[in-house]
This record gives sequence, structure tokens and C-alpha cells, in this order.
Amino acid sequence: MTELVVVDAHTPQAAALESAASLLRAGQLVAFATETVYGLGADATQAAAVAKIFAAKGRPQTNPLIAHVSSVQMARAWAGGWPAVADVLADAFWPGPLTMIVPRTDRFAAAVSAGLETVGLRVPEPAVARGLIAALGRPVAAPSANRSEHVSPTTAQHVVDDLQGQVAMVLDSGRTGVGIESTVVDVSGEVPVLLRRGPIGEARLREVVGALRVVDQRTDGTQRQASPGQSVRHYAPDVPCIRVDEAFEARDSDAVIAVGRSVPGAFVLSTPEVAARELYALLRRLEARRVARIVVVMPPHEARWAAVRDRLLRATVLPPLPGP
Ligand code: AMP
Ligand code: MG
Repeated sequence: MTELVVVDAHTPQAAALESAASLLRAGQLVAFATETVYGLGADATQAAAVAKIFAAKGRPQTNPLIAHVSSVQMARAWAGGWPAVADVLADAFWPGPLTMIVPRTDRFAAAVSAGLETVGLRVPEPAVARGLIAALGRPVAAPSANRSEHVSPTTAQHVVDDLQGQVAMVLDSGRTGVGIESTVVDVSGEVPVLLRRGPIGEARLREVVGALRVVDQRTDGTQRQASPGQSVRHYAPDVPCIRVDEAFEARDSDAVIAVGRSVPGAFVLSTPEVAARELYALLRRLEARRVARIVVVMPPHEARWAAVRDRLLRATVLPPLPGP
């Protein structure tokens, strides 16, 4: 049984947060909104609860989870080490859509880190997320609340569509504002490493940290993964979804999404911010309409589109080569 509870996004009802925290304490799963996407949360200290996340999503055990904390102090208290650069990044971007990889401690269930010696920590911004973590008093492990490899959820209904019956409660505080997953930076080594592109772009990170190494995940699956879980196909809708760069022959039955370009008759996602916010809901809507095929006209090759481009590369495949 999944209970859907509507809460106010700005001043969430304390009783709702309390009952959600009690469920987490009892080892149950609760889904809630962060600024990026909806998360499927469990008490990060309880192995059995964390195991339920993997089971509910059908998530490979090798894919670590992000542990959400309510403040920088809480992050410091739970991390196994806190390099100086972590403070610099926290000052600049927390609360916000930045995950930092730091050394772990044994207080986290091992599965949160998928066997690694590090843990991903993030302070989300929304009052619901921070209120829930504070009410529990422990970190909340939460990956995106979708079936593994399906499109990430940006509304409570998306969560219900994917995980009905597998999550005890969904806190519905409306649609998420940012819409794509957090930027992930590993600060556990000498030089910070950008592991996953996201809402906070490379240029902005460099302004703050100076030196930054970038590990761009190849999407052909040939490169060893520096950040587990960055699989080739991810975030993909259940209908064929191809990407094209410019001129192409659309069939009448195609649904066309033009990203950062205007194409007559297409759904246009005009800016990187709009595209991030709307992309997943649009993919889910077209999927529900059972369109024959989705054609994505890719955004321009510009740095500001890097995070959206990354998600689109995972959601789409190249079209088949034209016949002779
Ligand atoms: P999500 O499924 O959006 O919650 O994102 C979790 C992702 O964060 C994983 O798939 C990894 O890419 C990344 N991540 C989390 N923890 C770690 C870690 N300890 N080391 C490297 N990457 C991590
Ligand atoms: Mg995910």
C-alpha cells in the first residue's frame, strides 16, 4: 500500500513530516521531492531498509546511493573525512544540486556505498526534504524514485506510476524545480573530479575550486566507469527514442522534441533550464500517449547544454543507417 500525502512545499505540515520520519525509522521507504527529482528514501543506517530501495527499483547492487543530510554540520559529522575543498564547495552550493563524494564511515549501511570506501553526500534545498531528514535525525539514502533505467520522476504521480505498492508513503509537494539529477564531484582525492554533469556546470565549479578533473562518461559502454551507475542507457522512456543533430525526415507518427532549436511542429525546450525542468515529464507524457517514436533534435554543442546533452545521450539511440 502506498499512501500519497500532499504537503505544502514551502511550509510542510509537521505532522506529515513526523509520520514520514516514523516510517523511515521503522525501516520503510518514503518518496519525497528534492530540487532535482523525486527521491526514494530510506534510513541510510539500516541495511534492510536500504536493501528495499534496490529491490523496489530493480537497481543493480553495484550502483551507490546518495545520502541526503540537512546541513553542512550534519555532513561533516557523518563523513569519514572532510577535505578543505568540501567546505569551499558546500559554502558555494549547499543547499543545492551538488553531491560530494567523501570518505565513508561504518555508520552508513554498506549498500549505500555499493561496497566503495566513499559515500555521496548532499544537502537538498526544499523544506520538505530538509524537514524530513531533520525529523529522522539521520541521513536519508535516496536515489531517484523510478524503476531502474526508466525516466527519473519530477512529480509525485511519476513515482506512483513506477513504484505503486513498493513505497510506504509519497510526500507530494508538487513538481521539482530543477528537473535533472545533481552534479556529482569526488573530493576524496587530491584534485576534485567531476563525475556526473548536472545543474551546476563545469565552468561554475572551476570558478569555485580552481583545479578540476573531468571524467566524461563515454556512452558506448567501452570505458571503465569512474562513477558506478553511470550506465549507457539510463533515464530512457519505454518507446523508441532516437537522436538527430539537424536535418532529418520525420514520419507523421513521430513525436519530435527540439532542444535549444526551433523546429516547426516540435515540442520545443528552449533553454538549458527549461529543458532540464521539462524533459523528463515530457518523455513520460509521450510514452503514456504511446507515440510510435520519439525523435530528439539535439541541442547545440555548447558548454551550457552539457548536462542536458548527457541525459539525452542516455535516453536516446542513434537512428539506424539509411538503407542502400
Ligand atoms: P541517483 O541514482 O541519481 O541517486 O545517483 C546516484 C549516483 O551518484 C550514482 O549512480 C553514482 O553515479 C553517484 N555516486 C553516488 N555515490 C557515489 C560514490 N561513492 N562514488 C562515486 N559515485 C557515486
Ligand atoms: Mg537515478
